[in-house]
Amino acid sequence: MVEPRVYTRAEWRALPPTTTIRYLDRQPDHIVVHHTAGDNTTDYSLAAAFRHSRWIQDLHMANGWGDSGQQLTISRGGYVMEGRRYSLRAIYERQHVSGVQTANHNDHTIGIENEGIYVTATVPTALFNSLVTTCAWLCQTYGLDPYAAIVGHRDYVSTTVCPGDRLYARLPELRQRVAAVLAA
Ligand SMILES: [Zn+2]
Repeated sequence: MVEPRVYTRAEWRALPPTTTIRYLDRQPDHIVVHHTAGDNTTDYSLAAAFRHSRWIQDLHMANGWGDSGQQLTISRGGYVMEGRRYSLRAIYERQHVSGVQTANHNDHTIGIENEGIYVTATVPTALFNSLVTTCAWLCQTYGLDPYAAIVGHRDYVSTTVCPGDRLYARLPELRQRVAAVLAA
């Protein structure tokens, strides 16, 4: 079983949600890749990753989403963190927490927010490597085919540039690398 080290909400000191979390007795069938559209920081530390998770939570709560919208977050330093409450538990139980990350598709998709903005910027190697491991873990857990399951936000919502042209262009490579991990 491939599994990334996922830092919990307690570790990054999340605020409690201000909404009821919808815990669904079903599995997600797609993995949606996002970028956070925040700064492309050169601080690759764990402390910076935790700050970023708190920043996203604040932003999403200000949007009225009651908590972080995404289920998982990956920092530019490659640290993987739990997003919305119960996301980690749901993965371990092969169920799903409905997020707020892909309009009209939240009940069947699990979202990964990747720190930074990748319209023109290069995706950091540490981030991409963690994205491979995280997607492999999710595909293995839920029995998903990476070639069918891994999509970009813009594949569902045509009005967004998310996850940016540079990260979006690497989705074929992501699917191939995840498939290679699963085959190993
Ligand atoms: Zn997005």
